[in-house]
Amino acid sequence: MPGADARPRNPTRPVRVGRTTIGGGHPIAVQSMCATRTSDVEATVRQILDLERAGADLVRLAVDSAADAAALPAIRDRVSANLSVDLQENYRLAAQVAPHVEKIRYNPGHLYHHEKSRPVGDKVAFLAEVAAKHDRAIRVGVNCGSIDPAKAGRFGGDSVAEMVESALEHCALLDDLGFTRYIVSLKDSDPAKVIDANRRFAARRPDVPLHLGVTEAGLPPDGVIKTRVAFEQLVSRGIGDTIRVSLTLPNDRKGEEIAAGRRILEDIALGRFRSVPENLGKRLNIISCPSCSRVENEAFVELAEKVRDLAAYARDHALTIAVMGCRVNGPGETDDADLGLWCAPTHVNLKRKSETIGAFRYDEVLARLKVELDRLLAERGGGETRPREPVRVRRTGP
Ligand code: SF4
Repeated sequence: MPGADARPRNPTRPVRVGRTTIGGGHPIAVQSMCATRTSDVEATVRQILDLERAGADLVRLAVDSAADAAALPAIRDRVSANLSVDLQENYRLAAQVAPHVEKIRYNPGHLYHHEKSRPVGDKVAFLAEVAAKHDRAIRVGVNCGSIDPAKAGRFGGDSVAEMVESALEHCALLDDLGFTRYIVSLKDSDPAKVIDANRRFAARRPDVPLHLGVTEAGLPPDGVIKTRVAFEQLVSRGIGDTIRVSLTLPNDRKGEEIAAGRRILEDIALGRFRSVPENLGKRLNIISCPSCSRVENEAFVELAEKVRDLAAYARDHALTIAVMGCRVNGPGETDDADLGLWCAPTHVNLKRKSETIGAFRYDEVLARLKVELDRLLAERGGGETRPREPVRVRRTGP
């Protein structure tokens, strides 16, 4: 990124990821993630090439199953992009994945699901051994929606501390193993928490390269604005070695994430900061995931757009609506939203905070969302008023 690195950067150590080096004063790498099913080789190759053409330094894929892992050799044969793989619960797939990609990402909060009796330290040792054997880098990717259960609730409700402590613990585990070729990310859907988490982490481990991102930032342009707020505050302080702008976009527009990331970095480098409105965060906040191979119904992106349009009349109310694409992260990541929707193959699950209201067909969920939104606004003393009709709740979800 020409000029983007003229500002002082934290003295992070360099971590080589294929042809790119992250940290150590190298240009801030811009990355994105495929939303195709990884087992669909044609579609995934097409999207990797699209992202590369858009200027991605690194392209991430999700591998959740043996079928996804089995597709990697065919994908690798057809693309030269630097690839990173997101492992979910099945961390053992790393052994199949590592020969074909440049970086492996694991989430400390997901290491507890499989082989519950095996200590987490052993699992990290396995991942480090696989990465070292194949000359690969690792990302420790901590996410607000899936905090390590051993950390959750231990810091008096300070969710940022939970994320930071989890990341620090995994850095120590890797350091003790003599594996230092790692990067850390601390993501939240709230830009203020992303800023806080990364600043706290960087103060304690200024040597560790950071991957910045606001998770589930949502649809453009709002999603770009949320991300810009966080990146301006961090990159201008020398924090951040690689970035991803997570936007809810149809598959053929994913390259816009790269363009948005480069534009933000260029503006920061040139001192072009956007003023952040005082009431940012005190208005309607729609968060939606950027989608990935786990999306269960392609109607998800359209649904997110329709939710934004439908909820526009509530724009001056401080409430959050979350729209998530799948059952892997959807149920947990909608818990804190005032109203949450997560997509299953044929139905959309509608929630109010952690309480499930019901599962509704794609063509009926918006009407029910409107009823719930009106109800919420009426309780808060605002919004449209209309007679409250009893609505039949169907509990047919998966
Ligand atoms: S919520 Fe599901 S579909 Fe959306 S990005 Fe997260 S894992 Fe992918």
